[in-house]
Amino acid sequence: MTARTATHLLGLLLLVGLTACASAPPVARNPLADWRPSPNHNPRQASLIVVHHTEMDSAEAALRTLQTRNSGGRVSAHYLIGNDGRLYQLVADGERAWHAGASRWGGLADLNSASIGIELDNDGRSPFSTAQIDSLLRLLDDLTRRLDIPRQLVVGHGDIAPTRKSDPSVLFPWQRLAEAGFGLWPRAPLAPAPAGFDPWAALRLIGYDLSDPAAALRAFHRHYRGHEAEQWQPGDADLLHDLQRQLMAMPAMAPADTVGAAAVTP
Ligand SMILES: [Zn+2]
Repeated sequence: MTARTATHLLGLLLLVGLTACASAPPVARNPLADWRPSPNHNPRQASLIVVHHTEMDSAEAALRTLQTRNSGGRVSAHYLIGNDGRLYQLVADGERAWHAGASRWGGLADLNSASIGIELDNDGRSPFSTAQIDSLLRLLDDLTRRLDIPRQLVVGHGDIAPTRKSDPSVLFPWQRLAEAGFGLWPRAPLAPAPAGFDPWAALRLIGYDLSDPAAALRAFHRHYRGHEAEQWQPGDADLLHDLQRQLMAMPAMAPADTVGAAAVTP
């Protein structure tokens, strides 16, 4: 080996070393403290999935916004699904994307810290394409398995921010998701709700924030009834009673592991 080749190799090795350092994970241990590791922990991760529509005209335009900012500031989501079904990822599953904003669900207030955000390329007025929903179902199957997210904990942005948001629109096929095993959905035939049943308590149990009751009803109707009425409608109580029964029948989950426990705690 010539001296020149050796110098060249050393340079390469240094470069490789520097690159490795640049991509190394941050040091987990704080040098201020004595490290006494405990095995009793797990990675912090998402415990529910929030579905959005972009209200834009193309996936390319949405990608640009999700990599920069919209009129309200910097925004992002973990995934974007084009109208053609193409799936894009913008933020790693373990990172906190900025898609939910001020929001509440069950006992949770900071949904960005607790959720995976999925944007659907849709202008807010058009139906969602079959290819797009097929792609979404594949992604939901992957995320719920890999991240151990309970399959019923798939909600809309409008559900968690009822006073501010109305996406995904009333055209979003929640029933199709439910038929594939995702989200909470009534099971026909519905029995009449018993006397004394409290539909507000059931709404709260599902996870809705009731600080603006009309907005909560609008969000509930958008998700479950295909309209956006702000008053109770015939059949609402029967539907809510069924959802409440499903939630109460779910196995108890450790509060530290999922927000399901928060959602089923009155
Ligand atoms: Zn949204």
